[in-house]
Amino acid sequence: MAKYTTSKPSWVPDEPNEKFACSVMGGIEGIKDTTVGNINPNLLSGKTKPKRRLVLSEDDYVNGVLKGDRMTLSRAITLIESNNSKHFAKAQRVLQRLLPHTGKALRIGITGVPGAGKSTIIEAFGNMLCDAGHRVAVLSVDPTSSVTKGSILGDKTRMGTLSRRQEAFIRPSPAGGTLGGVARKSRETMLMCEAAGYDIILIETVGVGQSETTVRSMVDFFMLVVLTGAGDDLQGIKKGIMELADAIVINKADGDNLLKAKVARAEYERMIEYIRPATEGWPTHAYMCSAYTKYGIPELWKVIQAFKEMTTESGVFNKRRNRQLLEWMYSMIDEHLHSLFFDDPVITGRMPEVKEAVLNGIISPTQAVKELVNMFDVDMAARRQVDIFHPEAEVKS
Ligand code: GDP
Repeated sequence: MAKYTTSKPSWVPDEPNEKFACSVMGGIEGIKDTTVGNINPNLLSGKTKPKRRLVLSEDDYVNGVLKGDRMTLSRAITLIESNNSKHFAKAQRVLQRLLPHTGKALRIGITGVPGAGKSTIIEAFGNMLCDAGHRVAVLSVDPTSSVTKGSILGDKTRMGTLSRRQEAFIRPSPAGGTLGGVARKSRETMLMCEAAGYDIILIETVGVGQSETTVRSMVDFFMLVVLTGAGDDLQGIKKGIMELADAIVINKADGDNLLKAKVARAEYERMIEYIRPATEGWPTHAYMCSAYTKYGIPELWKVIQAFKEMTTESGVFNKRRNRQLLEWMYSMIDEHLHSLFFDDPVITGRMPEVKEAVLNGIISPTQAVKELVNMFDVDMAARRQVDIFHPEAEVKS
């Protein structure tokens, strides 16, 4: 039988009186959720164990994702994001089978400084697309989450109404690892979402480091969300980011801000004239919108549709997709070789000595590279020999 506790805060009077309006209920020892009379006796005796999550087979993942089952999709993405090598191999097999069902969605990237209104725009835009019969997946690439252990994009309660919709799927940025690692996981997550039937993918990122370039390399259309208050704001926008954008969106064009938004738009239009467009044949322009009043949001969708139509017709759309695929492959080769080299025990063993020699001017950096790569080559060859004589032994690669 549960034992009722008598503890109460010191500010509660001993006897109820009319000056004190609250009555304090006693808790039950050992139980956190004290719904009196609603306690499972098995729980008190410790007989009920929480159920273990069923391990899904490769077929379960593939069939569940193809059926558009959100729970399976979430778990498939968790598999993709896992750093465990067994999970990695399984995730890759699942992805390989889903690949024929990917590529049909329109991929849209959204960047801008924190506070520009990205998530509010995504919510307004996403709801509008869901109303029009689309299925929308929202992903984010937030390298700050691995650097600071917190995240710029993930900390807020975001996109409340969109996240409750059946037609929408929202997944925060994978945490941990290099931007390259985050990028691979996000790309594969995007493919999973496409296989699950989401036909619009919105990928949000913050203007930090290389993350815009990374997202640009994953999407068909890329927009930069900026604030009004032109003069000050323009100083903060790097020309490089504007060169990546297919549209510059001046948000918060509402109330007293509308006039400022018009000024900002004219300023951006002037700046764009001097910048090479991000997409061949598509002139980048500045547009105004308000995520609050929805002003300009349907027009933004019309712009994106026009972009898709024009670039598909000219072949630029497919050319970019193909280029992105090859760039993805090359960047993964880079990453793989990089870790193969720097994780090699011979290299890690010799590195301090070689660094010292370079710093003391005993050998040049070029000579150091030559020697290190040579050592690496010899080590790899030696390991292949071991493999021939012990085919059962696993070679680290
Ligand atoms: P993010 O950091 O870029 O994702 O920005 P948020 O979407 O979180 O928005 C930052 C702030 O701007 C929030 O307080 C929003 O309520 C506000 N905000 C976003 N869109 C609009 C808008 O269209 N008009 C106005 N007036 N405020 C907005």
